[in-house]
Amino acid sequence: MQLVGLGDDGRPRAAVHAPISVLPVPFPRDSFEKAKKAMQIFNTLIDRVSRDGAYLRSTLRAAAEFDEFTARLLQVFDATEDCRQQRFGEQVVLAINRSDYMLDEPSSTLLQVELNTIASSFGCLSTQVCKMHRYIVERAGQPNLDVSNLPANDVTSQIADAIGSAVHAYGCDGAAVLFIVQPDEKNSYDQQWLQYAIWEQHKVRTVRRTLAQIAEQGSLDSSGNLSIDGQRIAVCYYRAGYAPTDYPSEAEWDAREMMERSTAAQCPSVGYQLAGAKKVQQDLAGSHIVEKFVDSADEATLIRACFAGLWSLDNKRDPGTQEVLNQASTRPEDFVLKPQREGGGNNLYGEALQQRIADPKGLAAYILMQRIRPPINRSMLLRNGEILEVDTLSELGIYGTFVRQGDRVILNEEAGHLIRTKAATSDEGGVAAGFAVLDSPYLT
Ligand code: ADP
Ligand code: MG
Ligand code: MG
Repeated sequence: MQLVGLGDDGRPRAAVHAPISVLPVPFPRDSFEKAKKAMQIFNTLIDRVSRDGAYLRSTLRAAAEFDEFTARLLQVFDATEDCRQQRFGEQVVLAINRSDYMLDEPSSTLLQVELNTIASSFGCLSTQVCKMHRYIVERAGQPNLDVSNLPANDVTSQIADAIGSAVHAYGCDGAAVLFIVQPDEKNSYDQQWLQYAIWEQHKVRTVRRTLAQIAEQGSLDSSGNLSIDGQRIAVCYYRAGYAPTDYPSEAEWDAREMMERSTAAQCPSVGYQLAGAKKVQQDLAGSHIVEKFVDSADEATLIRACFAGLWSLDNKRDPGTQEVLNQASTRPEDFVLKPQREGGGNNLYGEALQQRIADPKGLAAYILMQRIRPPINRSMLLRNGEILEVDTLSELGIYGTFVRQGDRVILNEEAGHLIRTKAATSDEGGVAAGFAVLDSPYLT
């Protein structure tokens, strides 16, 4: 279920079911396994990138010149450098990542769309949808479908275990997990499943607050320990804070910086959020970059295999940049233009892409990406209680969990999957943004 809105009394007015697909969607087993195998490497890669301030600053400098939000995150990153230095040995780091992929039919390869380091959502609803599809296939009888091809999926308990492990490493009895949420949160049921699992599996309490509430109710003691209304916090888990609109005033930025300065594990820290930038994804795909951050040539080869074509627009005088801009301008349908944003609905396609690249000013805030062409399926989509049968495309997400204290890696796991399916005619994905439905894979 998803919350629809609040009445004048501040109580929920109504709820609707999350949009879902009625049956699982075919997905090739080898690609699915490949994506799972890559996840622990991505966890390590992104952790190392998040710790490399010099790399983050130099990679994001040009984008930050034209993108205020990236510039602001970099400012918070720089302003909190002293805390990171002082506490490195004890500071607990928690990451809940989700690497997203689409199959590219022309090349028969699985290509990465992006890697999310902040508010990687829908893990709990995906767990439920997988159970529902298993039920439909087994119980309602689908003669052409064999339930053994529905892979097990328990994102909920795996994310709860990662959070529990971070709380344990923090080592303070009674400390809670702070869920940082949007004021008009529509995806609260996905979060509530997780709150219950954290309690049931680890007996750890959770509190929910918006950034504005944290600015009012939060405080740090002289050792940097964070409390909200007197409740000590071990982990700050962000389900908000990824979009400029989450920071309508300085108060929200103050809250973010206060938490970043605290001893509580930040999921994600500002460094992790920056490491998840589209610009960093593009740079890592360049030659000899990923190799600096992973343990072996084999690991680099494995993850490189899923990099799509990605181009920087930093330097317009560079002949390579000019060439790809010319290509994109004549064949916009083969490209996606991406700003440094999260949450769906921000990319430019077709004519809008053409128009934007015609103006060279501020293009460094974007990256250009090869348009991935997934195979088309026929699906029944259920939204607001109505079923629609349409041609669809699907996107696979693999969750990754990671906990580290100082240099000691406590946990690094592939933590389950998500499939989102959307009408083949839609450019964008995103369930919350209203483009896609939750689905599950039927391995072929
Ligand atoms: P966000 O961080 O906003 O989710 P994404 O990079 O995931 O940004 O893009 C949003 C959606 O746009 C994706 O879910 C996918 O449906 C579509 N998309 C993004 N990149 C590509 C691409 N290279 N080829 C085809 N579709 C893409
Ligand atoms: Mg994203
Ligand atoms: Mg995305």
